[in-house]
Amino acid sequence: MKEVNSMAIIGAGTMGSGIALAAATSGIPAYLIDVAREQLDRAKAYHAKTLSRSVVKQRMSQAEADEAASRISYHTDMADAGDADWAIEAVLEEIGLKKDVFRQMQKTFRDDVVLATNTSSISISDIAASVGEAAGRVIGMHFFNPVPVMKLVEVIKGKATSEQTTSRTMALAQQMGKTPIPANDRPGFVSNRVLMPMINEAFYAWMEGVAEPQHIDEIMKLGCSFPMGPLRLADYIGLDVCVMILNVMRDGLGSDKYAPCQKLLKLVEQGRLGDKTGRGVYEYSQK
Ligand code: NAD
Repeated sequence: MKEVNSMAIIGAGTMGSGIALAAATSGIPAYLIDVAREQLDRAKAYHAKTLSRSVVKQRMSQAEADEAASRISYHTDMADAGDADWAIEAVLEEIGLKKDVFRQMQKTFRDDVVLATNTSSISISDIAASVGEAAGRVIGMHFFNPVPVMKLVEVIKGKATSEQTTSRTMALAQQMGKTPIPANDRPGFVSNRVLMPMINEAFYAWMEGVAEPQHIDEIMKLGCSFPMGPLRLADYIGLDVCVMILNVMRDGLGSDKYAPCQKLLKLVEQGRLGDKTGRGVYEYSQK
């Protein structure tokens, strides 16, 4: 099967910047695209910092780090990546926005290019409906945060996804050193179907005074062997992203049991989005 020789990643936030770095360190040149120049600058700084830390920790040589950095280019115009032979979308978790981006991807990339989405919860078939005949090339390729570290890629076929698209996606995940595992196209797939109600419930436990956030997290870490408590994880994912995923699950699964907790909504309203804004459930120093 043909290896992927270059990748276009659309959206340079938490996930897009991580996917670009994982591609570059596995030898795949990456075009990172975002409408916001400051997001590209932030991604570039994150790449430099992560690579230099890997050198200090002797996970790679300086030459390997320089080579990986040189494989990533940063663009505000998707057309710059027109010769890429793989494309993955990682913009915000909003169906309208994703459909617009997919229409643009269909126009930009060759018609043998897989059009993947890193959506956490939105139906792959719904996204694919925006690109008509290209729907066979649309697939969910759900990476986990932080992408350079996390091994799992949840692979989700839509109604029209071709077998070839699926096998190429499994192969690419392996080329990137990841473990692809299939899941069906239901809101939240497996990972968020199980994780998000738990995170939401942790906000209820906090709101109802069952315990303070640090105690909720410590209890879940020590009692359930979680590496990170649910509230700390929510900050890490992004509280706005958690709300968007829960909304998609509530609407898609037709049950209010997935509706985001008031406490979570309030923090998002206040602009407390977690690590990315320096404040969420917890406070983070700029350092
Ligand atoms: P984010 O808010 O960190 O980044 C989104 C980026 O998309 C921003 O940089 C924004 O400028 C950019 N963007 C918006 N419109 C655009 C457009 N038209 N063209 C190009 N770029 C555009 O979000 P994120 O946390 O990286 O999430 C991205 C996707 O990955 C979402 O679908 C989310 O559900 C999914 N996801 C997130 C996580 C997580 O832990 N945060 C994990 C797995 C999957």
